[in-house]
Amino acid sequence: MARISTLSRSIDGRIALVTGAASGMGEATAYLFADEGARLALVDLNAEPLQRVAEKIRSNGGEVETAAFDVSDQVAVQQAVETFAEHFGGIDIVVNNAGISIPAPIDSEDYEAAWQRSFDVLISAQQRLIRAALPHLRASDSARIVNIASTEGLGATKYGSPYTAAKHAVIGLTRSLAVELGTEGITVNCICPGPIHTGMTEAIPMDAKQEFARRRVALKRYAHPEEVAHGTLNFVLPASSFMTGVALPVDGGLTIRNA
Ligand code: NAD
Repeated sequence: MARISTLSRSIDGRIALVTGAASGMGEATAYLFADEGARLALVDLNAEPLQRVAEKIRSNGGEVETAAFDVSDQVAVQQAVETFAEHFGGIDIVVNNAGISIPAPIDSEDYEAAWQRSFDVLISAQQRLIRAALPHLRASDSARIVNIASTEGLGATKYGSPYTAAKHAVIGLTRSLAVELGTEGITVNCICPGPIHTGMTEAIPMDAKQEFARRRVALKRYAHPEEVAHGTLNFVLPASSFMTGVALPVDGGLTIRNA
């Protein structure tokens, strides 16, 4: 049947760079994008699990390159972007997903270190990767940037102020760059995941997760990482050409619930 509509919902052949791809939502995003035909440039600090993700994609017929480094290392970011862009012949999509969560009460001894590391990894790394990839995004006919924020970018939980402050900053970065890069047709959006079963939440006992979800989440559960990856996929579609500067909660109704 001939199509009546005009915009494409396919990322087949698009070149997508995803950070934090060895676990959780980054891994799920890599698998989903691979299933949709994207060519993948995957980054993570942890080389071994990253290789396992890449092997799984290759054995399924997907195309993937990897680089293991710390996303807060500006030189490494620049080098990896150039290597990926040369290999694939460009970059169309950047997903800034890598993240850590360091609990830090305001009067804790190591608060300063937690603050610095949180800001390095959660926010400085995002602007650095965007700046490194920008020449390639500018050359793309539908460039897309997705930053992973959090519901901690919209509200707050005690004892995690470095994380919460950095995630609020992710939303600010996203909105400002959406305005700045909008003139060039590059969209910049962010996802605010709620509670998700990933490496980051692994240490929380299951009964505590269930209790939290029962009290706070409209859908009464934690999500699986792939459910968030579909939110990200929606932002990077060529058809999503008029969506920019959005902070999208993918949180099972956590942020809209009053009682
Ligand atoms: P995860 O721990 O399963 O995965 C994070 C990945 O990022 C890991 O593979 C880790 O090695 C990598 N990483 C961490 N620091 C890095 C660095 N400096 N350089 C390169 N790679 C690094 O956790 P996740 O939950 O999938 O986290 C993905 C994103 O989602 C993060 O930005 C996190 O803040 C955010 N988030 C998570 C939740 C949740 O409930 N899990 C909720 C809201 C937001």
